[in-house]
Amino acid sequence: MPICIECRHPVKTLWTQYSGAGDPSSGHNIRLTVCKNCGRFCDKYVEHDFVVLFIDLVLIKPQVYRHLLHNTLMRERDQFDPSIIRLGTLLLLFDVYLTWARIEKQAAPDPNSPHGGSNLGSLAQQPIVLQYLFFLILCTFSTLAFHVCIRFLTSSPLSPLALLNLLPTYPRPNSVSTALLVSSSTKLFPILMVIWDYDVPAAARSLGWAVVANNVEALEILLDCGYGVALALAAAGAVARWIVGRMVLWVVGLEGVDSAAESGVAADGRALWALMVYAREWAGRLAVG
Ligand SMILES: [Zn+2]
Repeated sequence: MPICIECRHPVKTLWTQYSGAGDPSSGHNIRLTVCKNCGRFCDKYVEHDFVVLFIDLVLIKPQVYRHLLHNTLMRERDQFDPSIIRLGTLLLLFDVYLTWARIEKQAAPDPNSPHGGSNLGSLAQQPIVLQYLFFLILCTFSTLAFHVCIRFLTSSPLSPLALLNLLPTYPRPNSVSTALLVSSSTKLFPILMVIWDYDVPAAARSLGWAVVANNVEALEILLDCGYGVALALAAAGAVARWIVGRMVLWVVGLEGVDSAAESGVAADGRALWALMVYAREWAGRLAVG
């Protein structure tokens, strides 16, 4: 049953079609249902196009998540919508690009590094297809670890969160994955940044934080579990992804990559600063254009 995206009250239908109101091609022959509980439109996004949806997703509006997760994508059955599978594939390919660019940049000789020299080692000498395959495998396993870990914690009866009564077992694991994928679509922002030659590691880190904020919000909205539990879920998923990523790097002898630059408050500070600089630059360009 669909819900009112403003107050979560269940409703029978989100809109009604009325006859004799002009031609159907104008699209104005539906009437949005007004919620009996809160008096607002139950789901205003029924009439909005994808661009509005995407902007509101980036702005982390809870209503748009409720619209997608309860009223359009999942409905009664817990099956993946084909558009979500496409989004997941796109996100994975983007992840490959960002990870590859980041590791390559880190592995380049750095005069400030106490170790100096490149540590990408034998991988850099492999054919480009093999390098691509390696990063594809790295990102696939890392992403799978992230999803499996959070799905286990939310939907398995053996989950420590369920055993400790912190979170009731949520019977729809595919909805959880959908929430995570939809809320990770901020990752697609580098499409804009590619145009303006940007610092890849800093941008990847800034995006990482934006994606984490979106993931936490989406989990909180879907599970109605409070921010503490949502944050714990996202953190557990991130740890699982990190461990699996390290294991894949370790298998090919690249365990030195990432570790030094990945941690550290200074790097995070630089990333936040870069995000602000980009935002300012972007605003400036918009004002000029
Ligand atoms: Zn309502």
